Amino acid sequence: MLDLTFDNAFVNQLPMDPEQGSRPRQVLAAAYSRVDPTPVASPRVVAWSREMADALGLDATDMEGPTMAQVLGGNALLDGMQPFATNYGGHQFGVWADQLGDGRAISLGEVLASGGQRWELQLKGAGRTPYSRGADGRAVLRSSIREFLCSEAMHHLGVPTTRALSLVVTGDAVVRDMFYDGHPQEEPGAIVCRVAPSFIRFGHFELPAARGDLALLRQLVDFTIARDYPELEGEGEALYAEWFAQVCERTARTVANWMRVGFVHGVMNTDNMSILGLTVDYGPYGWIDNFDPEWTPNTTDAGRRRYRFGQQPNVAWWNLSRLAMALAPLFSGTEPLQAGLDRYAAVYAQEDRAHIAAKLGLAACEDDDVERMRELHTLLAEADVDMTLFFRALADVDPASPSLAPLQDAFYDEAKRLQFEPAFLAWLQNYAARVRQDTWSGEQRLAVMQSANPRYVMRNYLAQEAIDRSMQGDYAGISELLDVMRRPYDDQPGRERYAQKRPDWAMHKAGCSMLSCSS
Ligand code: AMP
Ligand code: MG
Repeated sequence: MLDLTFDNAFVNQLPMDPEQGSRPRQVLAAAYSRVDPTPVASPRVVAWSREMADALGLDATDMEGPTMAQVLGGNALLDGMQPFATNYGGHQFGVWADQLGDGRAISLGEVLASGGQRWELQLKGAGRTPYSRGADGRAVLRSSIREFLCSEAMHHLGVPTTRALSLVVTGDAVVRDMFYDGHPQEEPGAIVCRVAPSFIRFGHFELPAARGDLALLRQLVDFTIARDYPELEGEGEALYAEWFAQVCERTARTVANWMRVGFVHGVMNTDNMSILGLTVDYGPYGWIDNFDPEWTPNTTDAGRRRYRFGQQPNVAWWNLSRLAMALAPLFSGTEPLQAGLDRYAAVYAQEDRAHIAAKLGLAACEDDDVERMRELHTLLAEADVDMTLFFRALADVDPASPSLAPLQDAFYDEAKRLQFEPAFLAWLQNYAARVRQDTWSGEQRLAVMQSANPRYVMRNYLAQEAIDRSMQGDYAGISELLDVMRRPYDDQPGRERYAQKRPDWAMHKAGCSMLSCSS
């Protein structure tokens, strides 16, 4: 019970800022600052992840007991915890932003779980740090619910991600101007305990590189390889090159999975890119309802749409190229870094083809299947069709006599459905002929399609319903939604309500289609 083993490698092995506490400052030649969470009025755990608790060796008695509420709310520490905030920079919306750092995230320590797995526990919204730059270091309930739920939902979907252990309401109010339009309001404060083997970001390397601090840059790279990539062998430049290529590969796999399930990160700044290729920093993210590569949930990005759905694979490449620039001083030439970026493109293409095959239920992806999927995407976008419903129902189309009947439900607009019916039918006939030539049996095809095309995704409006209930003091909706998202690929009788297309009321409601960075 609560006897976690801590092995705090980050603070023990990397240089520390000599000043403690949260006074805002530039932190030079140090990877982190020692800072404690700021206590809150009355912390209460309102949701927690059974799977994550299990992985840490914690049970329900621990999670629902008074000690954990204090710890997860930032009011108390367990033996072995050494709280810290880390120092990083980043490119925000394409522009170098210099020092950013953990402005409202405070890590408590790194747990070594019984299987040898390392899990860093990090409180988001636990108060000011040296990196808070005039902001309050806090988080509001609505965005904390969104981060808690989506972290675990992504995990269950099989998308690499940081995890969430708990959601605490603090009993304190936090003031936010949700749309930056001069209407600040008090909102309930909350803290998510997020968990990952590493929270190191591209920006951790960019900052010392930008400052010309090669000693710290090299130290961070050596540390990351030793702690987070222990399987890599070799030394010197060859090791660095292989490591960078691995970062590129992992990033490619994760972004390809985002595209598979219809996830839009919303703020793919380099400070929000994980060195382990995990999805990290759930802010104004969103899920595709009607298939639209141009869509972004982030109102802050509505003008240029830099981080729109269809652009994510290119943005990830651009972000990796920023990381490559930061690492360049450690290499005698640029070829190894170029090779890593090429690996990104190759692995992304390979993953994308694997997903095309699986989503369409084919034994392998041929060149004309790539074209087939591109044509389908164009149709889905033009005809206003729900991505999740369409792909899930595609398995129900009979290849012997294809018809649109199983797909009716996926259309948002009746007029467009009628208009595009002939085009869809033509596509389906061509697709059915392809399926009839394929080597797979009907059962194999169904099984593969159902494991690539989720039945349940955490649509923005579903999260918003859980938020609206929570704002009335009823937190049960969070755990109910989490329970559905535990088995996103299974049909769950009685839970059809969670697998419907976005209702009309959610089309223009704040939190459902529009989100800002104010959280
Ligand atoms: P984000 O857009 O959430 O990735 O945040 C970008 C930067 O702003 C990071 O350095 C955050 O730590 C910082 N930040 C965001 N919100 C707050 C806040 N309420 N208090 C302090 N720092 C914040
Ligand atoms: Mg961030």
